[in-house]
Amino acid sequence: MADQDLYKTLGVSRDASQAEIKKAYRKLAMQYHPDRNPDDKEAEDKFKQVGEAYSVLSDPEKRRRYDQFGSAGMRGGGTGGFGGAGGMGFDPFDIFREVFGGGFGDIFGGGGHGRQRSTVQRGSDLQIRIKLSLEEIAQDTTKKVKLKRLIACETCDGSGAKPGTGKETCPMCHGNGEVAYRQGFFTLARTCPRCHGEGSIISQPCSDCQGDGRVKGESTIEVDIPHGVSQGQYLTIRNAGNVGPRGGPIGDVIVLIEEEEHSFFERHGDDILYDLHLSFPNAALGAEVQVPTLNGKAKINIPSGTQSGKILRMRGKGIPHLNSSGSGDQLIRIQIYTPKKLSDEERKILQDLEQRENMHPKRGEKGFFERVKEAFM
Ligand SMILES: [Zn+2]
Ligand SMILES: [Zn+2]
Repeated sequence: MADQDLYKTLGVSRDASQAEIKKAYRKLAMQYHPDRNPDDKEAEDKFKQVGEAYSVLSDPEKRRRYDQFGSAGMRGGGTGGFGGAGGMGFDPFDIFREVFGGGFGDIFGGGGHGRQRSTVQRGSDLQIRIKLSLEEIAQDTTKKVKLKRLIACETCDGSGAKPGTGKETCPMCHGNGEVAYRQGFFTLARTCPRCHGEGSIISQPCSDCQGDGRVKGESTIEVDIPHGVSQGQYLTIRNAGNVGPRGGPIGDVIVLIEEEEHSFFERHGDDILYDLHLSFPNAALGAEVQVPTLNGKAKINIPSGTQSGKILRMRGKGIPHLNSSGSGDQLIRIQIYTPKKLSDEERKILQDLEQRENMHPKRGEKGFFERVKEAFM
């Protein structure tokens, strides 16, 4: 799909209700329907765009993913954005019929765009979870995942028909996939109950798949995960889910991102917090110490007179942003270490220090919480 603002396409606000979205779609779809605008390429494109926009925004799950990532959000490296619209098999007339009901062509007088009405069922989506460490999140990652899915039956090549036999036109709907019935002045249509809208039936079903065209199988997929993702986000891999019955289009795989808890880093947005335990002499005298980062060790300079709770910032050492350039920071929170046991000599030195006025906090010096506040502002 081209990058379009789906809300703008339908002319609704971002917090529009489902009813408003449907109303906007109905109005625009009527306006741009090809039957009303014969040989008008622009209207046809518009009709398709509003159909795509509606198919995403009318589905709460797809709408949520679109709001979160936009159309550019998590695209790239074989990973489609939000699934569904614009994907293989998207047909604006399907959406149109879903909203207006099957007999709408008759209202325009003859329903003459000459399209075959029979439909094929799309395979269902599969949902999987992928757990990532913070180190993996800090860079683009590819994960191989084995998944159980419905694949095309090899015996019948996915057709569902016994080899050597074929499909025949459904006798009930004569291949239309729909049967007409009258309601008041209107002739309406509903999905044919005999062929479930496919327009054809199988005379002799394949014995390996019982006519479904699919069997249980297993596939290994590679999931490309962009850096900077976080817990609870989704990505969609197009056409990797269950195959549709009898050669129907393939569903998607929805990947839910989970974040592993780190043994010593804490994530705050794209910043990484690390508690550095520092000796009192190091804090008082100043020191150069080594700290772990998401990509190996780094040195940090502790200025003399550093207070407990002070937060030092290592710029750009956090997690790279998902949708923009640059990275978060690594925050080093100083924790002064106090020894639990002392030798006689150490005790003497400390008792000596304790006597000195300079070792004691002065009135009016900022407390711990004020310093934390300052560091985060
Ligand atoms: Zn088969
Ligand atoms: Zn039928």
